[in-house]
Order: sequence, then C-alpha cells, then structure tokens
Amino acid sequence: MTSANYRDEFKSVIQKLIDSPDNEHVALTNFIGNEFVKSESLMDSVNPATGKPWIKIPNGTATEVDSAVAAAKEVFRSWKNTTVQQRSTLLNKVANLIEEFNDEIAVLESRDQGKPIGLAKVMDIPRCVQNFRDFANAALYTLSTSKILEQPSGKCINYVKHDPVGVAGLISPWNLPLYLLSFKLAPALVAGNTVVCKPSEMTSVTAWVLMHAFKLVGFPAGVVNMVIGEGRSAGQRLVDHPDVHLISFTGSTLIGKKIQEDSAKMNKKVSLEMGGKNPGIVYANYRKSDIAAIARSSFLNQGEICLCTSRLFVQRPILEDFLKSYVAEAEKFTIGNPSTQVQIGAMNSKVHFEKVKKYIEIAKAEGGTILCGGVKTVLHGCEDGYFIAPTVITGLPDTSQVMTDEIFGPVVCITPFDTAEEVIERANSTSYGLSATVWSANTDELLNTANELRAGTVWCNTWLARELSMPFGGCKQSGTGREGLHDSLHFYSDAKTVCVNLAAKY
Ligand code: NAD
Repeated sequence: MTSANYRDEFKSVIQKLIDSPDNEHVALTNFIGNEFVKSESLMDSVNPATGKPWIKIPNGTATEVDSAVAAAKEVFRSWKNTTVQQRSTLLNKVANLIEEFNDEIAVLESRDQGKPIGLAKVMDIPRCVQNFRDFANAALYTLSTSKILEQPSGKCINYVKHDPVGVAGLISPWNLPLYLLSFKLAPALVAGNTVVCKPSEMTSVTAWVLMHAFKLVGFPAGVVNMVIGEGRSAGQRLVDHPDVHLISFTGSTLIGKKIQEDSAKMNKKVSLEMGGKNPGIVYANYRKSDIAAIARSSFLNQGEICLCTSRLFVQRPILEDFLKSYVAEAEKFTIGNPSTQVQIGAMNSKVHFEKVKKYIEIAKAEGGTILCGGVKTVLHGCEDGYFIAPTVITGLPDTSQVMTDEIFGPVVCITPFDTAEEVIERANSTSYGLSATVWSANTDELLNTANELRAGTVWCNTWLARELSMPFGGCKQSGTGREGLHDSLHFYSDAKTVCVNLAAKY
C-alpha cells in the first residue's frame, strides 16, 4: 500500500471514532497476527467528562491472550533476524503517521482519558512520536561493542551481540495512555522482540488506533499484537504465560509487586515503573517567579502523572506568604470539559474519583485544613463528569495516610520545615522513591539536597524536564529497573559475548 493510501485509511479509522454516535458505540477489537479480531465479550468504556459510555471495548480472555502470544512467538525468529535498519525504518514510518494526525489522535486521548485536549496535543501525542523516532534512530548506533583480547597464543576478538529477549508483554496504565505504551513498544520492537500489549482497560482507544498504524506501514503479521481487557484476566494471563519472556509494567505499586512475584516463578525479565508520593522542597530563598511551576508540578493532567508533587515542604519563615501565593496559583487553573481549552479536565474514572474524594474526607477527619478545592466541581453539560478542582491541604502530620499514600489526583499537602537535614529525612520517609523537586536560589542547597534524596529523578528549580536518554525509574517501592534510550535498549535485549580466536589455523 502506498503511503498516500494508508494515510487515508488511517484517517478514516480515527474519524470514525471521533464521530462515534452517542447511541451506537463503535466496538474495538483485539489485534492478533495483523487482524482486528472480535473479542468473546465486550464492555463499556466511559467518557470521564460525561460519566457516560462512549465506546465498547473487548474484555479480553485468557484464550485471546494465548492466541496473541502464539502469533508473537511464531514470527519471533524471522523478526529477530531482520536488520536493525529495517526495524528502524518501519518505526520511523509509524512516527510520521502519528505525527501527521497528532491533533485528531489528541481528540481521542482527551475524550478517553479526561485530560485537556491542549495537553494531549502538545505532550502526549508528540511524546509518542518522539519515542518511536528516538528509539528507531538510537538503536542504529548504540548497542555494539567489541574488544581485542591479546594473549601469548594470539589475538581473540570479543564482541557483544544484543539479542532480543523473545515475546515481550507490555502492560500500561491509564494516565498517559499512548505516551507510556509507545515508551515500551519502540525499544522492544527496534531491539527485535515481538510483543503483546495490554493497555489499560480504562483507556484503550489510542492504542487501538496505533495498531492500525503498525499494520498500515507494513509491520509483518504477529510482530505487534494487542489484547484489550481487564488486568486480573488478560493482564494476569500475559504475566503467567510461559512463552512470554519479559514483562514491562507501568502502573500501581500494588499490582507491580504482584507481577514481580508471579514473574519470579518463571524468572522472567521484569521492568516495573510504579507509584510515587513525590516531595517538593521549597527553601526560603526560592525564586518567587517559580510559583506557577511549583503549582503546575502538582496539578498538571489533574495530578494524574506519577511524577506530580503531592507533598510540599515549605521552609517556615516563608510559609504564610507561600500559602497565599500558592493558593492564588491553584485557583487560576481553569477546569472544564477536557475537549475545550481548559487546564484541568476530568478524573479518569468514577472509581478513581471516589478514591480521591475519600482522601479529602480523611484529611478533614484528621483535622487538616482545606485551603481550596476539595469538592466535586459541577459543570454545565458535564454534570455527571468526574471533576475535582486543585485542592490544597495543610495541617496534617507526616504520618497521615493522606501524606503517605499515593492519591494520584489534584491534591497537595503543604507542611512547614526548619532545616535541610530535617526536610531530607521527612521527604525520604515514605515507602516510595520516584521523583522529587527542590526549589532554591542557592546552588549548594539545591545540590546537597538533591544528593540526599532517595528518588529516581530529582528536579532542581524545574519539573518534568527530562532528556529521553537519561535513566528513568523509581527507588524503593516506586520501581525496579530503569527506562530511557540506553537503559530500555538494554532491558529489551540480552547481551551475548562472542569470542573468536583470530590466530586459529585450520
Ligand atoms: P494499575 O496497576 O491498576 O494498572 C496498570 C495496568 O496493569 C493496567 O493495564 C491494568 O489492567 C494492569 N493490571 C492490573 N492487574 C493486573 C494483574 N493482576 N496482572 C497483570 N496486569 C494487571 O495502575 P493504573 O491505575 O492503571 O495506573 C495508575 C498507577 O500507575 C499509579 O500508581 C501511578 O503512579 C502509576 N504510574 C507510574 C508511572 C511510572 O513511570 N512510575 C507512570 C505512570 C503511572
């Protein structure tokens, strides 16, 4: 198929979903061996802004996962023996196609996830494109190494070959659906693995669109497969399947730990990117002009980013002034139907919405003060949607559940501190260690604090700025392993050292 033809076909797939009528929902399918295969059973997927179903999705079964794994297994050897240049070319074609329809795919991501459309346009979809492009290109140059071993008997050349691991199970969450799935798919495929994806059952739509891109640009049948469905059935079968050699999981710590245990029984390679309860530390001399960035670090994407700041430690002398400025910033966020130009959209699901509200109630019961937000926001036309305005809480001890559990919503607790030593200990006191932010005009203070924080990423006077090639992941119960250009390519391959005697004569 020429690229002009497949562009039209891709466009019509997206448009059909955008136009999906309210009363007659489009039904998604699994994707197995390059076929869009109906599932045995379907379930509703809800638009979080309206609280109403808008699409039908498969409730994938163990048998469906088995078929997907069989398809991936069958084609593994031939895919692994393609050249990295061939794989890279195909991935670049996927990147180009997604990029061309960036804005249309953003409409779907926003409707399915609840995130503001503006954010999906500038963050989620472009980042997906970048993931495919950067991994496609990096893999051409990064993996090979060789050394000459000199011995009295002659020289040996040692070279390291990076073999793909096999069939990779890719399990992703609902907060950054396409962005995070592509962060797994791109390195897994360019390294020569075949894959079975299991996107979150809460947000499967853009992953389904992506499967069309793989087929249309010419990926061989079976290299990429996807089963949509619940974690406890489809996801669990993928983890338990003996022919799946590697699991890459992004999601909650609870499920990640279960996956680690289950995978250990078969010694599968696992990468776990899990939850966080990220501290932000604001020293008295912080730059006041950073206040908007500090607030953004808590509330972007409704606080539904694993890297959002949820505990803010503010040095005591500036506490009062800081609270005034911070609450003023929090109240500036516009909240509304995510398909319009707003900064805060809807919480992803009713279950999640209820969870966030429950923590706000716990904060009240424990004597916390709600400085702003804290209640359901009712919006005209979206009365049943799951909206909560940015919520700022003070007056809770560090031991409160609200200060130790991951809430994953637009809720931040602010608490004072006195010394660097004290705040470092308190910031490190939860079971998580994903990321942290430090705000100060003093470089020594910044770097000394960054040095002592137990987190996979520490941002100093900034947030969310990370170059793709840097290692990404969590400490403690926030994760196992690292992702990023080099780390991911290593994870999705097994290094094999080959030693060849150059002096041997036959
Ligand atoms: P979740 O753990 O509930 O689900 C994640 C994925 O795992 C989903 O696809 C789900 O269907 C699947 N799953 C559930 N049970 C399973 C099982 N028994 N076996 C196999 N798969 C199973 O997480 P979520 O609610 O979708 O996402 C929110 C969480 O993700 C938060 O904790 C957040 O911090 C975390 N997260 C972490 C990162 C990171 O990079 N560290 C990034 C984004 C989100």
